[in-house]
Amino acid sequence: MDTNEIILNWYDSEKRNLPWREPDKNKIDVYKVWISEIMLQQTTVMAVIPYFKKFITRFPNINILAESDIEEVLTYWAGLGYYSRARNLHECSKQIIEKFNGVFPREEEILIKLPGIGDYTASAICAIAYNQHKVALDVNVKRVISRINNKHNLCNISIKKLAINILSEDRPGDFNEAIMDIGSKYCKSKFPKCSICPINKICKTFKYNKNALIEINKKKPIKEKIIKYGNCYLIKRKDDNKFLFIRRPSKGLLGGMLSFPSSLWVIDKKNIPTSKLFDDLITNDSIKGPIHHTFSHFNLILNVYNIKIIDRIDIEGEWIDLNKAKGQLPSLMKKVANLV
Ligand code: SF4
Repeated sequence: MDTNEIILNWYDSEKRNLPWREPDKNKIDVYKVWISEIMLQQTTVMAVIPYFKKFITRFPNINILAESDIEEVLTYWAGLGYYSRARNLHECSKQIIEKFNGVFPREEEILIKLPGIGDYTASAICAIAYNQHKVALDVNVKRVISRINNKHNLCNISIKKLAINILSEDRPGDFNEAIMDIGSKYCKSKFPKCSICPINKICKTFKYNKNALIEINKKKPIKEKIIKYGNCYLIKRKDDNKFLFIRRPSKGLLGGMLSFPSSLWVIDKKNIPTSKLFDDLITNDSIKGPIHHTFSHFNLILNVYNIKIIDRIDIEGEWIDLNKAKGQLPSLMKKVANLV
């Protein structure tokens, strides 16, 4: 058996049953492949599954997605993080309707020019949805291909060449997904499960360079994240108990998401920008305590203040019932809402 036969045989019997995978290859829906690949960027499969199901139920095809308001798309993305993905996804759907009559292009070089579609996603769509002879090089695939070949620290172009050499001619889509599955199930970045790995007989690192596998298990010093500080305000209107929410600017962190009003987040905790408007309303009873949140590049400590106002306040925003707003909030703001 050659390498790709071993890999595909394993895939046929052990592949993960995922809601975006279509067992009948003739029924593969490029729309679902695209949505899943965007959601899976920097997010685990387990986290994506419930979001994918809800998203596809509400936006079952590209026409419906393109016609929808971005605010609603963001609502279905709330909690998944990296919100620029949702904005790009929406913009991409509109461009596919306008420029390609709603039909996804099949050419990698055209796909790559669409919003939110990079090298990896374009290759994944071509390989998985259109069964083209392409390799989608994500971190899992890079790791598995490097280890099978016992070639470490190679650049992406070199790893891609090695992958192309063993890529199945007939089933490149399945082959890509098989390598992704092996990477996530067995060939983990640390403590790979080589003894039960389905491809250990063809893995050159396992065969000839076990020292390399011992080395990767050694602890590397964890880089400390910087801490940022900010203030956040729970502003409740007395007559109907609704809370004041703002939409964050469309560019930047949590872009376009519904949020409680907050200050800028800064590194110097003694110099958090304050607002006279809010400061005048804060009393000793206002402090609801800090909440801690982790972003990919920094940790945030947010001081939350509770403010009750009689009727109006001079700040632009929407007054919304807290329970109605909760489903639209990103994870950070859900934590703030839970202090109420
Ligand atoms: S044998 Fe080990 S190193 Fe080789 S592919 Fe499998 S898990 Fe990875």
